[in-house]
Amino acid sequence: MISQKLINPKSIVVVGASNDVQKPGGKVLKNLLSSNFKGTVYVVNPKEAEIQGVQCHHKVEELPQVDCAILAIAAKYCPSTVDVLAKEKSCGGFIILSAGFSEENAEGAAFERHITETINSVEGSLIGPNCTGFLNTNYCGAFDAPIPPLSSKGVDFITGSGATAVFIKEQGITNGLSFNSVWAVGNSAQMGIEEVLEHLDNTFNPETSSHVIMLYMEKVANPQKLLKHSISLINKGCKIAGIKSGGSAAGSRAASSHTGALATSDVAVEALFRKAGIVRCHNREELTTVCEIFMHPEVKGKNIAIITHAGGPAVMLTDVLSNNGMEVPHIEGPDADELLTKLFAGSAVGNPIDFLATGTAEQLGTIIDYCENKFEKIDAMAVIFGSPGLFANWEVYQVLDEKMKTCKKPIFPILPSIINVKEEIADFIQNKHRINFPEECVFGNALAKIYNTPKPAPLQPQLPNVDVNAIRSIIDKAENGYIAPEMIRGLLDAAGISRAGEANVTNINSAVEEAKKLGFPLVMKVIGPVHKSDVGGVVLNVKDEETVRHEFERMMKIKDTTAILMQPMLSGMELFCGAKREAKFGTMVLAGLGGIFIEVLKDVNAGLVPLCHDEAMRMIATLRGFKMLKGVRGQEGINIEKFVDIVVRLSALVHIAPEIAEMDLNPLLGKADQVVAVDARIRIEK
Ligand code: ADP
Ligand code: MG
Repeated sequence: MISQKLINPKSIVVVGASNDVQKPGGKVLKNLLSSNFKGTVYVVNPKEAEIQGVQCHHKVEELPQVDCAILAIAAKYCPSTVDVLAKEKSCGGFIILSAGFSEENAEGAAFERHITETINSVEGSLIGPNCTGFLNTNYCGAFDAPIPPLSSKGVDFITGSGATAVFIKEQGITNGLSFNSVWAVGNSAQMGIEEVLEHLDNTFNPETSSHVIMLYMEKVANPQKLLKHSISLINKGCKIAGIKSGGSAAGSRAASSHTGALATSDVAVEALFRKAGIVRCHNREELTTVCEIFMHPEVKGKNIAIITHAGGPAVMLTDVLSNNGMEVPHIEGPDADELLTKLFAGSAVGNPIDFLATGTAEQLGTIIDYCENKFEKIDAMAVIFGSPGLFANWEVYQVLDEKMKTCKKPIFPILPSIINVKEEIADFIQNKHRINFPEECVFGNALAKIYNTPKPAPLQPQLPNVDVNAIRSIIDKAENGYIAPEMIRGLLDAAGISRAGEANVTNINSAVEEAKKLGFPLVMKVIGPVHKSDVGGVVLNVKDEETVRHEFERMMKIKDTTAILMQPMLSGMELFCGAKREAKFGTMVLAGLGGIFIEVLKDVNAGLVPLCHDEAMRMIATLRGFKMLKGVRGQEGINIEKFVDIVVRLSALVHIAPEIAEMDLNPLLGKADQVVAVDARIRIEK
């Protein structure tokens, strides 16, 4: 639990305060003094009598009791300072701006450990070290600028990088985003992004808490904690958007299975965010735009009315929305005809609703009223209104603001003329406390991104009917490494995953005997080598006994071969499903189409285990090649439900057997009536 002494202190001391506001210790004091803080401020500096008008103490020992401390002194002085403050001054909130800790060297790491232990021992809270600070509506304990406009309904911003946070704030503030709190967690010695989320979750109050959380993270230290609290917060009505940067480098690590190569740590992040219901963003503009949309009433469906006085941006926005799964539906009928009579000749109401360059504020109000009250299928409105510089826009933006106050459907202002009507837009943002979306396509992409982000998945979904005891007894007996075909068959059968009937043979007579049982045509494969085709170890379409004998002799000589596997020759579309364990995240399941779809197009989707049916269905339905699965141009599709069922069952299998480090069903052969695994690899790592 984060200490109230950090969140809402009655007194704050700045240790290392300075008159030089170009130093962190000077700037943080200046920010604190000019913030909303109503309590007492103390300063400590051995060399000064007074700092920025505050009487100065020379050492922390001289201080009275104090709730919260902001430290801007060299790292080596921090441990002893924290000792005095925590143990003698009942200080419970610490913001350590100083650098020179674990990020620098072993000595710094030792300071950091000491400080953290001391603060833990008094149940205090620590932000940092090595951070830009913390601020909320009670006070500003951060040294960086700009200090954002504060509002209890603004975003809670949690960031792993102080510098990046500055630029994110600048991006958002420019367009009218306000903040409830900013947490720059720095080295996260005691509290990282996950702990702040936990705090927001545990203290969430639907009446008073902010409903929008913005994340910037460079690592996911505790994925399961992130998942748990994000799901919980979103289910309570919060909305979360985040950037997780730095996902591209680890892409090509050596791996022995398809899944291993495809399942990079970034795929795990993607899967984590999707399961949590967090809108994943990839740049500052996207992140702030998504959060800005979250500041508006929720868009309940996908049908958007575009209201404009200029054709171009409306067309571009229409393209973006309709290319990304949303709709700009045609508006027609008696109400539409009636609306048209209230606009200048030449206007169009079919959506986009274009009321021309000469359109008036009054007309805008009328159009919004029709969208709000008469055009029932409309879920939200985007109003594009700039200026060619001939006249001012005060009245239009006045009407827009008023309608935004009264309408139930969300209205999004797209005010592109950031030069021509600069003052009107500044007034709209600063005095009317509104948000501007200056670029329609950036807005459209962000809106579609939110629309396409699924609701959080259940943390503990109902597992399909699988034989847990059988799975466990095989796994408990298995040794590390790739396991034998008998064990694989046992696991697939226990999990209820259909597979080709098959037999292992080690001599030529039983090969012939099994061939007669299976019937021709059949398939022969080597047992032993991991990549069978690569060593000439797969023979398809074996049609007679003669070939069985001949191939058996040949294949047994292939290096590492211990036996031959005989399978019926099946047909169907090649599909793929696999799993891979990712440190801290748990296991992820990947699924897609086989062949070139996976080799070349990397058309796979991932989900974090355990998966529910809806998540698995979504993984399949959002594949680029999904239309192929449904059947195109006379080609029969596959049984999608059966494929989804296999994904869910494979997820259950690896959930029950977390010792499975990597596994592949590659390929599964899919037809209209069945989906069957013809090749499976499972690697155990206990
Ligand atoms: P590996 O992946 O080790 O090379 P597979 O068992 O996947 O070996 O076989 C290689 C390819 O042969 C498969 O991708 C599939 O196209 C085809 N194949 C394998 N088994 C069968 C089967 N029983 N019926 C039809 N085709 C098969
Ligand atoms: Mg294979």
